[in-house]
Amino acid sequence: LIATGFLERVVDIVGGPFVLQDAAAVAPYGADALKQPHAPDLVALPGSTQEISSLATLCDELRVPMVVRGAGTGYTGGAVPIRGGIVLSLERLNQILEIDPVNLLARVQPNVITGQLQDAVERVGLFYPPDPASLQQSSIGGNVAECAGGPRAFKYGTTKRYVLALEAVLPTGEIVHTGSKAVKNVVGYDLTQLLVGSEGTLAIITEIILRLVPKPPAQRTVRAAFSSIEAAVTAVTNLIQLRVVPAAIELVDQHSLDALRAHSGTSLAPEGAAAALIVEVDGSKKAADEELDLVDQACRAAGGVDVQRAVTDADRDAIWQLRRELSPALKRIASIKLNNDVVVPRGRVPQLFELVARLRQESRLPIACFGHAGDGNIHVNIMVPEAERARLDDAMNRARAAERQLFEGVVALEGSISGEHGIGFTKAPYLGLELSPSEIALMKRVKAAFDPHGILNPGKIFPDGQAG
Ligand SMILES: Cc1cc2nc3c(=O)[nH]c(=O)nc-3n(C[C@H](O)[C@H](O)[C@H](O)COP(=O)(O)OP(=O)(O)OC[C@H]3O[C@@H](n4cnc5c(N)ncnc54)[C@H](O)[C@@H]3O)c2cc1C
Repeated sequence: LIATGFLERVVDIVGGPFVLQDAAAVAPYGADALKQPHAPDLVALPGSTQEISSLATLCDELRVPMVVRGAGTGYTGGAVPIRGGIVLSLERLNQILEIDPVNLLARVQPNVITGQLQDAVERVGLFYPPDPASLQQSSIGGNVAECAGGPRAFKYGTTKRYVLALEAVLPTGEIVHTGSKAVKNVVGYDLTQLLVGSEGTLAIITEIILRLVPKPPAQRTVRAAFSSIEAAVTAVTNLIQLRVVPAAIELVDQHSLDALRAHSGTSLAPEGAAAALIVEVDGSKKAADEELDLVDQACRAAGGVDVQRAVTDADRDAIWQLRRELSPALKRIASIKLNNDVVVPRGRVPQLFELVARLRQESRLPIACFGHAGDGNIHVNIMVPEAERARLDDAMNRARAAERQLFEGVVALEGSISGEHGIGFTKAPYLGLELSPSEIALMKRVKAAFDPHGILNPGKIFPDGQAG
């Protein structure tokens, strides 16, 4: 796959210490959180945009597959070099270049860790809202490439709302700048937003200008337990009718609550509860306190019990820490889990849960759900427990069948098969469930315009893996 002389030219560009080639050294660069690895032939750790441009020109000339890697926390195999070739790990590009409190923006290199940017801007009274549960590990570049979202998306939106401008290297080596530092810009096509969520298939993002907002002075959090999913969803509807726009509304089902209890010794609701809600409001202290009362009222009116307000920062952190423990808790029950982040219009969340109940029965597999109720974005985890190991093929077939029915169901409910994690290679076979042949063909023409030789992250997004 790697042409003669390629290695030497890569070493010339980035320097010997920044090229990895032995099997043990490259192996970690072949996996992400999906845990379906494929080792690259070579790994380069470029230190500048210019080096990335030279590497792209070289790969394009020699038709070597090239995959960009952020922090490797993706769930759909986006950073996995399934066709081999070279991985460009951007780990050396990890600097916050500028925090501008007058223009409310930050300029960063792609591998700044999300949580570190949040801490840095909060120290000067600013706020970067996107909060994927992986924020202590994921990179801003990866967040932009996946358009990451988190609990706060209900009020604040996902990563795309915050990306003002990008510097990027095209697979053919040209360096381009999209957008600007100004908050308004309607000059030509919006290439910035085209690159957001492009899953490392169109360009390599080398610098990002992010919009910031003032840090809300007060945050208040409530958690409540419910005897049914419907009751929890009614509480969300009540809230919206009271015109409260919480920063976050998280829904956790009984299966996830039980897993959390087994994992952490505690949970987000008393034993036997069918669902829990975590609701966070923010704003001025007065507004947050008033909204907190309304949230309490909306939960109780829907039959919520054990309604608990987080009084101190420590109480609040404890609730969110438990929320972040859900994924690891489920992993303990089943090391194999198909983690789907489907999304439906908010009012159809109860229908989504009806569908999941049916799939649970038909597949005879545990399926645990939690997610962002305000956005209708629910993580549906189809699990293959250790007890199924003896008949793994059969269990995997049942899990895959349930997954396909889930995707068909959410499309029928006018939703989407992915709200956060993207398509990568795992969901590529299902693209046609949601997009028409003309839409897929149009996307392939866009891909071909950026990457005429199909060298950047081949095998991702499109069902047949071809660029054009
Ligand atoms: C425990 C856990 C919780 C998670 N929770 C959430 C969540 O709440 N919300 C959510 O949205 N996601 C979540 N994720 C998924 C994941 O963290 C996000 O998709 C994240 O944005 C990936 O960032 P990364 O730096 O790890 O990217 P990687 O995994 O390294 O790469 C992801 C994709 O982006 C591309 N890419 C990376 N950097 C660049 C760049 N500079 N230029 C161009 N392309 C690039 C890669 O080629 C790849 O296709 C979670 C993952 C884990 C493990």
